[in-house]
Amino acid sequence: MTRPETPPPLPPLLLRLLIDREALMANWRTLDRLSGSAATGAALKADAYGLGVDAVLPVLREAGARDVFVAHWSEVPAVARHVEPASIAVLHGPVSADEAAYAIAMGVRPVINSIEQARLWLEAGGGACDLMVDTGINRLGLPPALVSDPAIAALEIDTLHSHLASADEHSPQNERQRALFAAIAPEVQARRRSLANSAGIALGPDYAFDLTRPGLALYGGVPRTEMAAHIRPVVRLQAQIIQLRDLSPGDLVGYNATFVAERPMRAATIALGYADGFLRAWSGKAVLRHGAAELPLIGRVSMDMVVADCTAAPQLAPGDWLDVPYHLPTAARLTGLSQYELLTTLGRRFERRAC
Ligand SMILES: *Cc1c(COP(=O)(O)O)cnc(C)c1O
Repeated sequence: MTRPETPPPLPPLLLRLLIDREALMANWRTLDRLSGSAATGAALKADAYGLGVDAVLPVLREAGARDVFVAHWSEVPAVARHVEPASIAVLHGPVSADEAAYAIAMGVRPVINSIEQARLWLEAGGGACDLMVDTGINRLGLPPALVSDPAIAALEIDTLHSHLASADEHSPQNERQRALFAAIAPEVQARRRSLANSAGIALGPDYAFDLTRPGLALYGGVPRTEMAAHIRPVVRLQAQIIQLRDLSPGDLVGYNATFVAERPMRAATIALGYADGFLRAWSGKAVLRHGAAELPLIGRVSMDMVVADCTAAPQLAPGDWLDVPYHLPTAARLTGLSQYELLTTLGRRFERRAC
């Protein structure tokens, strides 16, 4: 078998994740305004919540973002292509000496979450780092009782962080965490203090401190209803039709025949499935669009395909693009998935483009 020296160029992808760059910039600026005198960073973990670091980060940079947050060490190279290493903080911190050495070699800041991580960092040579204290989420972070430990006192801390557990709710836990963070802060030598995620920014200026860390709301998510009027949708999904067919009354559609045609209808098969993050929770719920025509899904979502009733748009042909509704608060209500899940599960078969 012979193979060409250079593989032929790939045909265009069948799925598009379009990022509205104006809306993304506007959301960052809105969150920056709501952050008052605090600087506003950006959470870029999980490939910018599934939108793609390469599509998102240049736009956020242009808007004015400097400080960026990732979770895993594996996420550093993608963001380091766009920002100064010193402005990158890695939330999981170093769990091994290899990771500490990597942070030093790259010049990025680990977020130290425990005495063990502090020791690991100091033994590796140390340098600028962040510190996360746990004010009640009990997930990741140093217990407040340990902030005066000698290993912590030896750190060179850029930013002291804590993370809110219930900022998307009206919960007394928010004020408890804020007050505890404010009480701990004077005990720690640090250049800056940071508490608020997207929802935390909406809790008011007392929560902003010196730096905020929004993620979801940058990308069009609305974690608190009072933000709905201020946050613009950012993501638009489009999927291509690969086949069309006419159904007769009694015809069954898809796995397990959950749909039975009751009348003659036209059906489109579309190259979008749960492997793309369009989960089975959408079965019987999604209504795709072509212009003003509404095309409800029929039958189950399969791995690589969905079928839609396109009787309302009989002129459609293979290769035509359909809009997939993805207004995050609405989609979350319809599917029972969180807005975070709706974004971060979007798969690798989308072309990701800011436009
Ligand atoms: C993910 C994350 C954020 C961003 O949270 P959103 O709710 O998406 O705004 C902020 N801080 C920490 C520590 C995080 O893990």
